[in-house]
Amino acid sequence: VQLEALILRYERGSRAQRPHGTVQVFTLEEIRQGMKAKQFEPYFQPKVDMKTGRLMGAEALARWIHPEYGVITPYAFIPLLEKAKEMDELTFMMLEKSVAACRSLQDKGHSLVISINLSLTSLTDITLADRITQGVLDAGVDPRAIVLEITESAAMTDVAHALENLARLRMHGFGLSIDDFGTGYSSMQQLMRIAFSELKIDQSFVKDIASNESLRIVVESSIGMARKLRVKSVAEGVETQQDWEILKTLNCDIAQGYFIAKPMNLDAFMDHCAVGDQ
Ligand code: C2E
Ligand code: MG
Ligand code: MG
Ligand code: MG
Repeated sequence: VQLEALILRYERGSRAQRPHGTVQVFTLEEIRQGMKAKQFEPYFQPKVDMKTGRLMGAEALARWIHPEYGVITPYAFIPLLEKAKEMDELTFMMLEKSVAACRSLQDKGHSLVISINLSLTSLTDITLADRITQGVLDAGVDPRAIVLEITESAAMTDVAHALENLARLRMHGFGLSIDDFGTGYSSMQQLMRIAFSELKIDQSFVKDIASNESLRIVVESSIGMARKLRVKSVAEGVETQQDWEILKTLNCDIAQGYFIAKPMNLDAFMDHCAVGDQ
């Protein structure tokens, strides 16, 4: 059992505040019940253009709004759903709600790019690309307003089908992002095989960029590589002004992190966008 999957990290400002490090284990059956009761929703974390400082989009991050325990992060349910091969329901729920949000933001005059996470392990079903595309088109949203962040959290068994799905999604106009670049499985191997449009540098590299010269060099190289490959570079986990300034001198395209804003529910994100207008 992965320890990380058992430790819930509760965010400040959530409905129920709990001390850090509280251990709470959910069973697959409890997660299924929560899904059935529609207790899951996306939280949105702003992505900002580093050159202009403008809000250019948001990443949709799954949250379980538990009636008893409050806001629960994905580490408590995604690994179990992936292992049970039951990610589809969550993927489509996130897609539906995030795309609807994208649409209502457009209706309010904000043309923002919404990023949605996709586990590579859930891409083995060959019909997935077409179902995703249909869902987005049905909602009246241009796939070019959606970026799919691809994470590889486990070894892939059915690589061929996953790659075919990704190629189709790209062909339909979706942006594809390599998430957590530099960690675990999400490395060079993926880069060579996916026609991606964004490289998302993992927060473990960004976090200590101010104090660690080696990390800074790795981040600088990643940004340079993204530029040469003509894809956007995104830094996640930008926590301080100092991080922001270093990344700016390294010519990183997009920043995301607590320094800018924490993930927030749709109402709060709508307010955030409205404030940005003034
Ligand atoms: P990720 O896609 O790499 O998302 C970034 C994670 O970093 C998020 O954690 C976010 O809340 C957190 N974060 C953002 N800024 C900062 C910062 O400045 N400092 C620190 N320490 N953390 C920051 P979160 O929301 O707990 O999500 C964890 C992971 O769960 C995500 O990592 C993603 O891989 C996965 N995930 C979340 N939602 C979904 C989903 O709907 N589908 C799939 N397949 N995976 C998801
Ligand atoms: Mg992501
Ligand atoms: Mg990431
Ligand atoms: Mg990450």
